Amino acid sequence: MGNLTLDKVCKSFGTVDVIREVDLAVNDGEFCVFVGPSGCGKSTLLRMIAGLEDITSGEVKIDGTVVNTTPPSQREIAMVFQSYALYPHLNVRDNMGLGLKQAGQPRAQIAQTVERAAHMLDLESYLNRRPAELSGGQRQRVAIGRAIVRKPKLFLFDEPLSNLDAALRVQTRIEIANLHRELGATMIYVTHDQVEAMTLADRIVVLRDGRIEQVGAPMELYKNPANEFVAGFIGSPK
Ligand code: ADP
Ligand code: MG
Repeated sequence: MGNLTLDKVCKSFGTVDVIREVDLAVNDGEFCVFVGPSGCGKSTLLRMIAGLEDITSGEVKIDGTVVNTTPPSQREIAMVFQSYALYPHLNVRDNMGLGLKQAGQPRAQIAQTVERAAHMLDLESYLNRRPAELSGGQRQRVAIGRAIVRKPKLFLFDEPLSNLDAALRVQTRIEIANLHRELGATMIYVTHDQVEAMTLADRIVVLRDGRIEQVGAPMELYKNPANEFVAGFIGSPK
């Protein structure tokens, strides 16, 4: 399980409407990519789904239950940001296991879960290193590992590859696709990179100025963009 429903979701900061009546249903196991220009509300929408931002009006549902007032820690969601936000004084093992430790899991169980995630992400030989001793790509994999170990229903990624160089971006993108296949979890992924969107998405959601312009499978949007804006974003021939 891990389906998400947004029902007329709105967000205002003071008098500024940033998210305007967004309706969306994301299926169990779906890989859904949000694209749109800078400032269109992608991060705000993710943060509302995660519970890091209040909802001005409308409903966010996970597996059919309204979670508008559910604290982030109880939403069974994991979020991976553009900046890795790892603890510099903890090694990879402890960075990945910290959430489980805070949740009171026994040490042996944490060790096993962390090792399994490290294996999945090719980080086994780095478990005793600190973040400063890792490359950018490895750090981002640790951040993803930290999300995996909590076995969330829903993964939220906010431009996770934008700090990586081109080669690492491709490699990490492939790892995220593999991870989606292995875990079968629902993923919502924000990017402004067309290639990432086209290759990762089951469906792409095109946002503009806090509203959804169009939702569809990558080739559907490519072949039948609703307007010039979508065509421009998806890279359809004019
Ligand atoms: P994106 O991730 O698509 O670049 P954001 O969700 O970060 O866009 O921002 C959407 C809009 O909301 C922007 O105009 C931004 O300035 C505004 N915004 C975001 N967070 C806040 C905040 N805490 N207070 C006021 N305005 C905000
Ligand atoms: Mg953003």
